[in-house]
Amino acid sequence: MSVRSVIREETWTLTPDRDPDAEPTLYAMACAVCEESSDASEDFADPQSWVLKHCGQNPSHHTFRESIVRPWRTWRHS
Ligand SMILES: [Zn+2]
Repeated sequence: MSVRSVIREETWTLTPDRDPDAEPTLYAMACAVCEESSDASEDFADPQSWVLKHCGQNPSHHTFRESIVRPWRTWRHS
């Protein structure tokens, strides 16, 4: 007696999720000098404003790191 498993060939596709009900894309900036970071925002202008305010208050902090959270989805072709 043997157990046999059936393996079906499937093709999966991975794409950025642009559906209306997708999770939002989020932008944030972090200071590479002191590691302080902005809030994540759906509007990339918000973290950029945070950077300009942060370097105004900390004139020796000139380097920043942007983080982008982008929703993706997979779907299967039969
Ligand atoms: Zn800083």
